[in-house]
Amino acid sequence: MQLTYKAPCAKLVKLENLWFQLSNVACNIKCKHCYLDCYQNTKKKNFLSIDKVINILKFNLNDLKRIYLTGGEPFLHPKINDILRLCLQKSNVTICTNGTLLNEKKIKVLKNIEDETHNKILIRLSLDHFTEGRNDEYRARGVFKKVINASTILQRYGIKYDLICVNLKNEDENILKNGFVSLFTRHKLNLDLNDIKILPMLKMGNYAKYYNISEIHKHVTFEDIKNFDMEILDCKNSRVVTINGIYSCPALVNDPRGKLGETLQDSSCNVYLETQTCFDCVKRQDKLFG
Ligand code: SF4
Ligand code: SF4
Repeated sequence: MQLTYKAPCAKLVKLENLWFQLSNVACNIKCKHCYLDCYQNTKKKNFLSIDKVINILKFNLNDLKRIYLTGGEPFLHPKINDILRLCLQKSNVTICTNGTLLNEKKIKVLKNIEDETHNKILIRLSLDHFTEGRNDEYRARGVFKKVINASTILQRYGIKYDLICVNLKNEDENILKNGFVSLFTRHKLNLDLNDIKILPMLKMGNYAKYYNISEIHKHVTFEDIKNFDMEILDCKNSRVVTINGIYSCPALVNDPRGKLGETLQDSSCNVYLETQTCFDCVKRQDKLFG
């Protein structure tokens, strides 16, 4: 008997969010739950070239609302300041970072770069719990204190930041958000409930290895999307530029099923929702990243 599975498709409508995966899977820490399976490798070949960024920014990007710089850890990229300058000429820029490489010297440079344009930088800091023990258990020892320190300096220099938190133990999202607000208030730091994005644990990459999870096979069906607003999916309005080509969304940059082509121009507009992550994404009924 032949088994066939036809996945529903999400079509790109407008390219509003453009992601540059600057450092591929190179990171200065190795979180237990990293869905990208990042490791400490700063070889030049891991970095997206500035020429590639320049070429992409030459495309017709009329619908663009925001550029995201991500990794791995984007601050490992040796040319991040130049790339940031180029991107800020086009739109506001969010830098998704673990926050551990941000010191006063770097933040001062970021502020100077921001002051050169009318667009704004948003630093998206990863913090997975409002208690130091729980956060550092999954990330690395000392990360919690470094993120609080980075937030303090960012606030002093007037650079906006927000938080992204992976819900490690499937806790109540309101409890998590209120915990973060109390934590930041105790440190005299501005943080609003709307400044916190909670992500589900994506059971891929390091997490799958660490917890010995083999591939699960749950697929999105046409029944699942019957009354579902597809517009909330990141892949409806985003694309990710990586050293390996163009991908549908940040969650799938390590998965060949997320690859849409070699260049932005030649990439398919259609994304087939055939992965377990797509299934989780649709069930979640909220944007994963944007
Ligand atoms: S989750 Fe983020 S900070 Fe942690 S290893 Fe992966 S890329 Fe690095
Ligand atoms: S994981 Fe979500 S955003 Fe990414 S391609 Fe699948 S449905 Fe789209």
